[in-house]
Amino acid sequence: MPHSFGAVDRLPPNDTPSGWVEPAELSVIGSARHYDRLNWFDWTVVGAGFTGLAAARRLAEMNPAAKIALIDAKPVGWGASGRNSGFIIDLPHKFDLDSADPVRLASILRLNTQAIKDLKNHVERFDIACDWSQVGKLQGAVQKRGTGKMRAFAQALDKIGEPYTVMDRAEVATIVGTDYYAGAIHTPGCVLMNPVRLTRGLARSLPENVTLMDGCPVVRFAREGRGFGITLRCQGTLIEIASASTLMCTNAFTPEFGLLKNRIVPVITFASMTRPLSDTEIEAYGGQLDWGLTPADPGGTTLRMTRDRRLLVRNQYDYAGHYGVADTELDRMREKHREAFNKRYPMLNKVPFASSWGGVCGLSRNHVSYFGEVSENVWNSSCHNGVGVARGTISGRLLAEAASGHKSDLLKQMYAVSNTPSLNPPDPFLGLGVRARLKLAAWESKEEI
Ligand SMILES: Cc1cc2nc3c(=O)[nH]c(=O)nc-3n(C[C@H](O)[C@H](O)[C@H](O)COP(=O)(O)OP(=O)(O)OC[C@H]3O[C@@H](n4cnc5c(N)ncnc54)[C@H](O)[C@@H]3O)c2cc1C
Repeated sequence: MPHSFGAVDRLPPNDTPSGWVEPAELSVIGSARHYDRLNWFDWTVVGAGFTGLAAARRLAEMNPAAKIALIDAKPVGWGASGRNSGFIIDLPHKFDLDSADPVRLASILRLNTQAIKDLKNHVERFDIACDWSQVGKLQGAVQKRGTGKMRAFAQALDKIGEPYTVMDRAEVATIVGTDYYAGAIHTPGCVLMNPVRLTRGLARSLPENVTLMDGCPVVRFAREGRGFGITLRCQGTLIEIASASTLMCTNAFTPEFGLLKNRIVPVITFASMTRPLSDTEIEAYGGQLDWGLTPADPGGTTLRMTRDRRLLVRNQYDYAGHYGVADTELDRMREKHREAFNKRYPMLNKVPFASSWGGVCGLSRNHVSYFGEVSENVWNSSCHNGVGVARGTISGRLLAEAASGHKSDLLKQMYAVSNTPSLNPPDPFLGLGVRARLKLAAWESKEEI
């Protein structure tokens, strides 16, 4: 695949962090004071989201004598991996459900299930306090479009023999505290968690041969000699790294490194979260704590009630050509979230959102995820199409295994369900086209939002 390396011009933006933790908790974990001005590493992993965290850990486990750098432009938990709704989804989801091939669906399930096992193992072993909760999830439908998609979901589950429970309006209402939903399908394998706490717990428990350098954007990435020259900006100082191989775990930002250029569509989706509900508000709400509902129609609204009584709403997409989100756009999204929230919980319409935020994901126009050696000694996995907690985690682990020369059935399955994202038209046509498609999708899904 053609590529060019050099200056990395556009960096992850300094936008409003997620509301999962107080902003003060989102400090840099790595200690820049200990970095030399010139460093040699056997492996460099760029991006400390779920993909990069899994990749660095597995590289270190498989190569205990090797020196590994894990770099992120932002403190761990700041990026999309700490901005998501906190569902670790086992089943094929969103575009993956379009496949009619039961072998492909079963492979995706096996890969995601392994990711959940790996994460559970780390959470238990390192005692990571992230509200890990194996309560499964609801796939909810509001009207006809949603119930149609719900039926298609049930058919896909039948194909792979996965268990589920169909719930009617009244049954769903006892859990979610609103009779807004016509029905839902409950599946037991999904895990809910607090994504900032999970990513930061994973970062703090990395093996000793991993040097974490977060809060240090890569500003130059080039081939030098038989390896790579990488320049980071760390607390105002430029640091040079020489490295034999690189695992680029930068999802939507990957094209900024000259890789998969014009093949990834950067898209932002948005979330808002209330403060913890008071006793009186909990009584008025009338539902349970600790559940998650994803929309049967992917264009609809995701809802969560946390263990600590906060309600989260996620919906709306926008093209993110510059990766960031303007405050005025965030204001508009907060209003949309308010609308969706008030329709579901009119009795809580005075409860304010404590925070609203956006986060960038990489999509591909042909809905495929990329996995593999994208250029000599550069490995990449991206375009998890909005469900990257499980897919990113297993991709990161398997990238490390593939780059270390390991072979396994799981790796074969990962290659089998991955492909090359199709080429995008050039900007401004890409932005215009994506925005038009998103508008149409929002209009089609308006009753499910
Ligand atoms: C609001 C929202 C809700 C979502 N809900 C869910 C959900 O419930 N479940 C789910 O599975 N998925 C969800 N997603 C999607 C999920 O968050 C992503 O798919 C996942 O985070 C991808 O992980 P990643 O590690 O591949 O990429 P990222 O988390 O995007 O990590 C890439 C990292 O690369 C770093 N980087 C980029 N450029 C540079 C540079 N120049 N130098 C150094 N570092 C750099 C970035 O700072 C970033 O931390 C949601 C996303 C959003 C925004």
